[in-house]
Amino acid sequence: MLKRLRTDFRLSIITLLGASALLGITPFAIMRFLQGNFVAGSIDTSILLSICGVMAYAWITGDTRRSGMVLAVIACSGAVAVAAVVGEVGLFWLYPCLVTAFFLVSPRIATFLNLVSIAAMTALGDVFQSDVQMWTFTATALVVSATAFAFAHRTDNQRERLEHLATIDPLTGVKNRRSMDEELNLAGAHAERSGLSYALVMLDIDHFKKVNDEYGHGVGDVVLVDLVTLIQQSTRKSDQLFRYGGEEFVLLLPGVDGAGLTAVMNNLQHIMRKKMRHPGGAISASFGVALLGPGESIESWLERADTALYEAKETGRDRVVFSDNMSAADADVSVGSPELAG
Ligand code: GH3
Ligand code: MG
Ligand code: MG
Repeated sequence: MLKRLRTDFRLSIITLLGASALLGITPFAIMRFLQGNFVAGSIDTSILLSICGVMAYAWITGDTRRSGMVLAVIACSGAVAVAAVVGEVGLFWLYPCLVTAFFLVSPRIATFLNLVSIAAMTALGDVFQSDVQMWTFTATALVVSATAFAFAHRTDNQRERLEHLATIDPLTGVKNRRSMDEELNLAGAHAERSGLSYALVMLDIDHFKKVNDEYGHGVGDVVLVDLVTLIQQSTRKSDQLFRYGGEEFVLLLPGVDGAGLTAVMNNLQHIMRKKMRHPGGAISASFGVALLGPGESIESWLERADTALYEAKETGRDRVVFSDNMSAADADVSVGSPELAG
């Protein structure tokens, strides 16, 4: 439970807000019933029950996006409803609601909710004792919203930048190994649910060290970028390329069977042989290919692709080796053989 609170920011905010609301609103709900103000008491109670429901939904389903949205709407509309019934003191509740909306939904939606709530509050003319009080409320609420927006917008940008830095390889622009682990897990779960087949291609440039040694690191970098461009141009949009490390890449192909995979690999190797060049001539790569087996773990899947790649290297490089869970008929080549090699 603590781990979820630590790792899921929105869930922790929903829980914090929920707990604060329960502690903060419960005494008011009781007090209003005791004072005989049943309308205000009922509004407070409905807000409390709704917040409990949203918290439970967020914890059970993990859908914090929808829960956050519902909680932000409940908080803002609840504050306006309370002000409509109890008058001026209800105004104070709107301020925390305006700010917390930015923690629960996107800055744009939060701004919209803020403006609608402030406009609704202002439209309830008799909440205010004077015009000056009304304009003071409007101005201060807008300042709070604008400040919260600026903060949320900046935080969003920083989060996006951090996410980019953590998941994208800066040289080639493809996803890095960390993203690959996540995507492979998603693919595994999806394969189990839907029965869609997934293939993994591990590829490694042949004798790349020589390119660096003879022509410099800069030329090596250009080769890596060219390779990525070429692979991306030669594969489908749904295929995903990851930089596994150094000059090793992983290609994840959804929805391919054995025969389709052979065609994809033939095509890829053909294009690479034709187009991959560096100042000293052609560049080749070796490929290890594995189809995800039923109920197979991601580790085992990767290991089989890696073993196939190792075999491609061992048997002469510049070739494709299919792992042993593909029948010869499926792969259209002898399993584990460097049949596609030129
Ligand atoms: P093999 O055919 O067995 O794969 O031989 P290789 O020379 O390609 O393999 P090795 O793993 O020995 O060398 C990989 C080289 O890749 C060594 C390293 O300098 C280079 N490398 C790794 N990352 C980068 C990079 O970002 N840019 C450049 N230019 N070179 C890189
Ligand atoms: Mg290599
Ligand atoms: Mg290597």
